[in-house]
Amino acid sequence: MIKQQLDKFHILYKQNISLKDYTTLHIGGKADYIVFPKSVFEVQKCIEIFNKCYMPYTVLGRGSNVLALDEGYKGAIIILTDYFSRVERLNETCVKVESGMTLKQLCQFCLKHNLTGLEFACGIPGSIGGAIYMNAGAYGGEMKDIVESVTYLDEQNNIKILLKDDLMFGYRHSYFTEHQGIILEVIYQLDLGEQPVIHDKMNEFMERRYARQPMDAYSAGSTFKRPNGYYASALIKECGLQGLCIGDAEVSRKHAGFLINKGKATSHDFLQLINKVQERVYEQTGYMLEREVQILSHKEKTL
Ligand SMILES: Cc1cc2nc3c(=O)[nH]c(=O)nc-3n(C[C@H](O)[C@H](O)[C@H](O)COP(=O)(O)OP(=O)(O)OC[C@H]3O[C@@H](n4cnc5c(N)ncnc54)[C@H](O)[C@@H]3O)c2cc1C
Repeated sequence: MIKQQLDKFHILYKQNISLKDYTTLHIGGKADYIVFPKSVFEVQKCIEIFNKCYMPYTVLGRGSNVLALDEGYKGAIIILTDYFSRVERLNETCVKVESGMTLKQLCQFCLKHNLTGLEFACGIPGSIGGAIYMNAGAYGGEMKDIVESVTYLDEQNNIKILLKDDLMFGYRHSYFTEHQGIILEVIYQLDLGEQPVIHDKMNEFMERRYARQPMDAYSAGSTFKRPNGYYASALIKECGLQGLCIGDAEVSRKHAGFLINKGKATSHDFLQLINKVQERVYEQTGYMLEREVQILSHKEKTL
């Protein structure tokens, strides 16, 4: 039934696909379906089809902040990537971007057009949709500083717009971490800058990342949120947990805040390591670390 309906509307999809290939942690079993809608109409059709068939679904960007489970995902995953990668300059300093574009692509666009404000995000390996959902940030900047509005599909499959004051941005938090919705398009308000300055700033941030983070390992970035007034990585380091392993999941020796997959880690290993780190940090320092990495499961996020 699902297959026939997707075929009827010429919606691209794959069946029984390993989530390892769609997440930067490179962990996870198979998803029943992964769909790649080419337009908002197709996204809406997908939702109609899945609802009619009682099939759970969720949305994934570049998979750089998710842990997919070993048992996979019994349902459909909507991926808005290459078909949702258009960017348009609305005026001198305003750009409208589709949510499947990567931050890296948008930074290149900004550099080319002498737009400043997004440099902080040039090394974050996510999509615009994932960055809005997480209010991604680094080096003193966050999505909330530059977003004007977000267009999304609400749970009734209607197109809606939220202005920045209604986006409930907080530390790794947005309207979408609490409400269902598929982010389609974002308007950013940037500033005019000088290309060499923008270029140097981006390079400096990239160098800092490569010097401090395990960029060549499978990871989802910082596994834990920053506790109030402290850094998760400093606490983990203080507790002597770097190098601690469960199976192939390891607390990075380069950056204590990153839990990495050395190659064959399972989600079970990874979750056990998260628990162990939380337990040890709590026992030794009194801080309870909160997980930043999202779990790709029906319980945690089913739109
Ligand atoms: C090496 C490395 C470094 C990193 N450094 C940073 C950093 O400096 N700062 C930082 O903030 N993060 C960092 N991250 C984490 C991650 O890149 C960001 O959180 C990023 O914004 C996630 O984007 P994504 O497209 O990969 O989202 P995904 O991981 O695919 O999804 C994350 C969440 O967003 C939801 N989502 C994705 N797209 C949409 C959409 N269109 N509509 C609705 N919901 C959506 C998903 O359902 C999921 O719940 C890093 C990760 C890695 C691997």
